[in-house]
Amino acid sequence: MGTSDIDGHLLISSRHLAGGEFRTLYLDVVHELCHVRQFRQGRPLFYPRLSYVDAPSEIEAYRLTVKEGRRIGLSDRELFDYLGTEWMSPAEHRRLARHTGVRPVPARTRPRRKRS
Ligand SMILES: [Zn+2]
Repeated sequence: MGTSDIDGHLLISSRHLAGGEFRTLYLDVVHELCHVRQFRQGRPLFYPRLSYVDAPSEIEAYRLTVKEGRRIGLSDRELFDYLGTEWMSPAEHRRLARHTGVRPVPARTRPRRKRS
């Protein structure tokens, strides 16, 4: 799931929609809608000189997503797992957790989601 920096549209794979866990899909949509808002405000979505987890656009989107995740009842453990991706290093995963106020804990499983 991602947001186009050309026209601000959401990009969602049909496989992710069909096979994804509902709360994950929901939080991914919340995350991406934050990027749509950033795009509509004329703000950059991508920061090529920064790591993904340090990009202001991502930190803002993940903070919003964590807030919504807590609102619907996710624990820090679940939020920490949600924050990880297959292409993120363990150090980046923990850094993103710190950026978003989630207590870092060792991951039980390796997340397999792609997100922008
Ligand atoms: Zn993002």
